[in-house]
Amino acid sequence: MHVVDAVVADRVDSRPLSAAILAVGSELLTPEKVDTNSLFITQVLNDLGIAVAFKSIVGDNRAELTAHVAHALGRHRVLILTGGLGPTDDDLTREVVAAHLGLPMHEDPEIIAAMEGRFAARGWKMPAVNRRQAQVPEGATVLANPNGTAPGLWLAHDGAVIALLPGPPREMKPMMAGEVRSRLLALAGDTRLHRRLVRVSGKGESAVEEIVQPIYSRWLAQEPPIETTILAGLGQVELHLRLQSPDAERAGAALDLAVGELTMALGQDVVSTDGRSLAAVVGDLLRARGWWVALAESCTGGLATSRLTDVPGSSDYVERSVVAYSNKAKVELLGVPAALIQEHGAVSEAVAVAMAEGMRARAGVDIAVGITGIAGPGGGSEAKPVGTVCIAVAGVQTEVRTFRFPGGREMVKAMSANWAIDLVRRALREG
Ligand code: AMP
Ligand code: MG
Repeated sequence: MHVVDAVVADRVDSRPLSAAILAVGSELLTPEKVDTNSLFITQVLNDLGIAVAFKSIVGDNRAELTAHVAHALGRHRVLILTGGLGPTDDDLTREVVAAHLGLPMHEDPEIIAAMEGRFAARGWKMPAVNRRQAQVPEGATVLANPNGTAPGLWLAHDGAVIALLPGPPREMKPMMAGEVRSRLLALAGDTRLHRRLVRVSGKGESAVEEIVQPIYSRWLAQEPPIETTILAGLGQVELHLRLQSPDAERAGAALDLAVGELTMALGQDVVSTDGRSLAAVVGDLLRARGWWVALAESCTGGLATSRLTDVPGSSDYVERSVVAYSNKAKVELLGVPAALIQEHGAVSEAVAVAMAEGMRARAGVDIAVGITGIAGPGGGSEAKPVGTVCIAVAGVQTEVRTFRFPGGREMVKAMSANWAIDLVRRALREG
């Protein structure tokens, strides 16, 4: 650690502790690449009670970058930059920040040694261009990068702190959550952001809003207030609760109460209050019972199974899955009677039930799912328009439902997969 670090804590600065984020890289200004780093950085800052005043995406351009750095430092005490620390000519972040602050740079032999070691471990010689990454502005602290060559940098200057972080997310994240966070902790007051996530399924955004709005509007009036954000995904709604407080215990108790109120109001539609995904919740319910699940998927093409198997350890309860797209496959692989398909059509409750029950019998599992529907854009009719999906769950008893999902093919598939997993969750909670 360099001595300049201590300066920050001593210096009295009248500016409030707000932050600016600059994501640097011309590729981030193309439609091919999204800046995701700033979201992670924002989360770490917010958790420390530091609000982000603005963030910008800046191309690999000296003049633009200098102007943005100047603007940020003129107004905010925390500046986090990500990207532009690479070894090539278009990587300017280090140089621009040093030049703006009037700091000379010198080569750090320790960084050179660490980089040579990384290359040597792969049997390579360090290319000369990488020397640039060992340039350190005077007074800066080097932040080790165990996941790549470019080290990060931490600077305290004139009452502000500046972190320069690598662009690749797998290098940036541990550095932000580790060294940068712990340095910011010393600066941040006692106030922290406390959060809860309530996942809801089975209701649309407006239906959820109608139920929870009278509840959360009251929380805004309390001190400290709880802010609630509703985020709607495909077939799922998330309620994000946020509370700023220096008192972790009281904040936790207030949030527990709030989550309790939401759970009372939303009942069975609450999937989790601890951040677990729908698929993870279903997995835990299956595991708790020692049950196995099998899936027979038509219009979802295996998507529901894919979601379930996104969860580590899902081999404890996912027995098998069949993608039975054609009528022939439904007959051959699931034992759906051809006459049933003839009579009701492939997209029908009768066929969904036969798929689920056939799957359950053939796989010898405790619970099975059958999904059949019209994902579109073709194949719809007046009686069964695009988005018609029948989902059956065969457990202790068999339940079947018909949905009319909105949107295009992707949305219909995603909503179907979600609902199929949610119907398993409901069956497990009931039985
Ligand atoms: P750089 O540190 O500028 O050499 O960035 C290296 C790579 O990291 C880029 O090619 C991107 O793929 C990725 N990257 C850089 N900045 C971001 C960002 N803000 N969000 C997500 N990925 C990024
Ligand atoms: Mg770059």
